[in-house]
Amino acid sequence: MLRSVILAASRSSQVERLVATAPYTRDVVRRFVAGAATDDALRATRGLVDDGLAVTLDHLGEDTVTPEQATATRDEYLRLLKMLAGAGLTPAAEVSVKLSALGQMFDEQLAYDNARAICAAADAAGTTVTLDMEDHTTTDSTLEVLSRLRKDFPSTGAVLQAYLRRTESDCRELAYAGSRVRLCKGAYKEPESVAYQSTRDVDKSYVRCMNILMSGDGYPMLATHDPRMIAIGEDRARWFDRGPERFEFQMLYGIRPQEQARLAGEGYTVRTYVPYGDEWYGYLMRRLAERPTNLVFFGRALISKK
Ligand SMILES: Cc1cc2nc3c(=O)[nH]c(=O)nc-3n(C[C@H](O)[C@H](O)[C@H](O)COP(=O)(O)OP(=O)(O)OC[C@H]3O[C@@H](n4cnc5c(N)ncnc54)[C@H](O)[C@@H]3O)c2cc1C
Repeated sequence: MLRSVILAASRSSQVERLVATAPYTRDVVRRFVAGAATDDALRATRGLVDDGLAVTLDHLGEDTVTPEQATATRDEYLRLLKMLAGAGLTPAAEVSVKLSALGQMFDEQLAYDNARAICAAADAAGTTVTLDMEDHTTTDSTLEVLSRLRKDFPSTGAVLQAYLRRTESDCRELAYAGSRVRLCKGAYKEPESVAYQSTRDVDKSYVRCMNILMSGDGYPMLATHDPRMIAIGEDRARWFDRGPERFEFQMLYGIRPQEQARLAGEGYTVRTYVPYGDEWYGYLMRRLAERPTNLVFFGRALISKK
């Protein structure tokens, strides 16, 4: 219920104005977002890499409605990749890309062309790209773009969401050699016709999907903060004899940093997903929807007069 309210608020421009202009919003945003500028992203990446973590960088921006906006997003990724390579931060850092930010909503071919340019730049920089997954109406289109991109850039990463009923089958299709697949629970409000609704059903699906990926031939990327899923991931890594070069854990910037450090300290590959940019509102609201205690933290900061 609370999750639905927050996700509805994430689409309200009135609530966005209220939140954006509230005192101390900046401090809250800074916990989850590296900053507005490319330099901020680089600084955060340097810190994480120095701490033994890998990174994937996401330039925030979802409401792309014109080709010009899509091109600007593409150009930001090209600039970012050049700077990462120049700073010696590749291959430790890769990039995560939302096709909606590249024009998918109005021109799938344009989104593909933009994504292709980013994949080519990542390849030249010695790193990779992962295509984030958005709501279920985009899944087929995103997987289609992925399969086209993988013809020339086979290391392009996919994301599958365990809450979707179709995902076990998608995991089977994508568990082939060289296939990088991020498995997450899923962050959008989806109808029962396509998605499991209860936490228990989503968790059970996550484990089934993890079993398929970890026993398959691809490169699983287990994106979760859930202690139970992480423990099962560690167990499957032992069971299927997967060392740190054959799978990784992924978590979001600012969430469970001590657990990220613990796993890295134990020799696992751990990748932190680092968002940056001006358009932090939708991203922040999805994080709040996931965890009511984040809402308490946020609410306190919003009303704080300090
Ligand atoms: C690297 C990465 C990339 C992602 N990419 C996508 C994507 O492309 N598309 C998409 O739809 N979603 C994506 N997500 C979001 C994902 O789908 C989930 O919405 C999100 O990760 C929350 O699910 P969870 O597995 O972490 O655990 P949840 O089910 O939210 O929580 C389970 C348990 O984890 C622990 N936990 C969770 N959050 C916290 C916290 N803030 N602090 C302390 N403990 C916590 C608690 O013990 C909690 O009970 C991504 C997530 C990650 C980590």
